[in-house]
Amino acid sequence: MNEETDTTADVRDVVIIGSGIAGLSAAVYAARADLEPLVLEGPEPGGQLTLTTDVENYLGFPEGVGGMELIQNGKDQAERFGAEFTHGTVENATLEERPFELELSNGDRLRTRALIVASGASARWVGAENEDELMGYGLSTCATCDGAFHRGDDVLVIGGGDSAMEEALFLAKFADSVTIVHRREELRASEIMADRARDHEDIEFRWNTELEALHGSQEEGVTSATLVSHPDGYPSEKAANGADVDRETVEVGGVFYAIGHTPNTEFLEGTAIDRDERGYLYTRTDDAGRATTETMVEGVFAAGDVADPNYQQAITAAGTGSMAALDTEAYLETLERTEETAYEVSP
Ligand SMILES: Cc1cc2nc3c(=O)[nH]c(=O)nc-3n(C[C@H](O)[C@H](O)[C@H](O)COP(=O)(O)OP(=O)(O)OC[C@H]3O[C@@H](n4cnc5c(N)ncnc54)[C@H](O)[C@@H]3O)c2cc1C
Repeated sequence: MNEETDTTADVRDVVIIGSGIAGLSAAVYAARADLEPLVLEGPEPGGQLTLTTDVENYLGFPEGVGGMELIQNGKDQAERFGAEFTHGTVENATLEERPFELELSNGDRLRTRALIVASGASARWVGAENEDELMGYGLSTCATCDGAFHRGDDVLVIGGGDSAMEEALFLAKFADSVTIVHRREELRASEIMADRARDHEDIEFRWNTELEALHGSQEEGVTSATLVSHPDGYPSEKAANGADVDRETVEVGGVFYAIGHTPNTEFLEGTAIDRDERGYLYTRTDDAGRATTETMVEGVFAAGDVADPNYQQAITAAGTGSMAALDTEAYLETLERTEETAYEVSP
């Protein structure tokens, strides 16, 4: 924790949960509005973009920009205007009373008048050997982001739901061949998406198969992958129970995980904040029916992937980060006016 950060004493105007691109964008806007935001960096300082090398679709960088560089620049920019960063991870939030109270994993407590939740959604990982080393180096969780790096490659997509079909169809525009690796013989995907993938001449399926290990290096990228198969499906589980399984190492230039994302919202359990069945936050519309970033709890705003199961891009996360800060600023102004009026009426 930043030694100068006194997380217990004052009531903050705004605390931002998360230091991914959504949290950073919110921090720049909130700091420029003199709200002196405190940014809790959480378990993954800098967020998902720190897992990738080149970002080629973020506006303003014609040659692309490194994920780390983009994040470090964002942090520097926010600090320049007075945002404060600390390594806190929120474990519990009490939102029924004002100011809101947050409990951090180290036991510290924080009080704040407004809150921006920008805690992201983590892509699920398979658990294959070497995935930590090769994530961002030929292994990815985002075809829209990294597909274009795989022109002419043979690639694998791991998963059997709609998002795996979507990733495969997108990758088929660039790759020589796309193989969907699924641990069962039946897809979870909707019929229409499954048919589209099945009908595509460059997409193949490996049924009853799982990814066991990735091979390659950060210099070369992913070069091959070991697949494990069993005629009754769930081969890794079968192998762990001592069954005979087939193993094959195939040459590939890229591997994409498409087994879903988990929004980081467990710390909001038990609060009045509305979430969908997967845990993504709902935000409300204003009186004119237009989208805002405010959640179902007044004064709590959401930005980035944590409220967006559909787009999940750096630029959309940054966009909603700025919106959340602007909504927060307006909320605090209204709160201040209400408090002043209450004071005038009953000093
Ligand atoms: C390998 C990879 C490559 C990608 N490439 C691209 C690309 O080229 N272009 C593109 O547009 N997008 C890309 N993306 C997607 C992009 O990274 C995400 O859309 C973006 O990072 C979402 O930003 P976010 O701030 O909403 O969430 P995140 O980046 O996920 O950040 C979440 C933050 O919340 C913090 N946090 C979580 N829980 C808590 C808690 N309890 N308390 C406090 N803090 C918490 C985390 O520590 C983290 O700092 C890529 C993603 C991956 C994984």
